[in-house]
Amino acid sequence: MNKCDIASFLNTANSKEQKTLLLAHKMCSKGIHRMTPIREAVLLILMREADGIKAYDLLKRIKLIKPKAAPPTVYRALEFLITKGIICKFHTSHTYSLIKEYNKKKTKLMLVCPLCNATAQIQDSNLKNSLMASLVNTGYTSNSAVIEISVVCKKCI
Ligand SMILES: [Zn+2]
Repeated sequence: MNKCDIASFLNTANSKEQKTLLLAHKMCSKGIHRMTPIREAVLLILMREADGIKAYDLLKRIKLIKPKAAPPTVYRALEFLITKGIICKFHTSHTYSLIKEYNKKKTKLMLVCPLCNATAQIQDSNLKNSLMASLVNTGYTSNSAVIEISVVCKKCI
């Protein structure tokens, strides 16, 4: 019954979302841990939340399709997707968001507004390289797939 509900939810994916799910499957084809229906459902919800979603709100949404889902189910799915470089967590807003351009090796610069939680990705490789060089010069390093920059967005200024 619950599996059917997840399957029905996953069937609502449009062609662009199906492409992303397929790509996520490919990214997870190596190693012992694969995409599961619950991980797919979490990913599909994140695809539809442009400004990210908090874990508690995500759990509420998952409970609509899998009523017995407990917080660890959602957190494990989120951890898995973070480890695979498919999603990221914004510490400023405590939200989870899809990484639009997957490439685990490339660090992304993400802007997050602390007032409304809006997010945007910076595509400037010169800025990124300069920031990474400054980090190293200052004695810091980052293994994170995402560097979060907390800045107020246009809407909130
Ligand atoms: Zn804002």
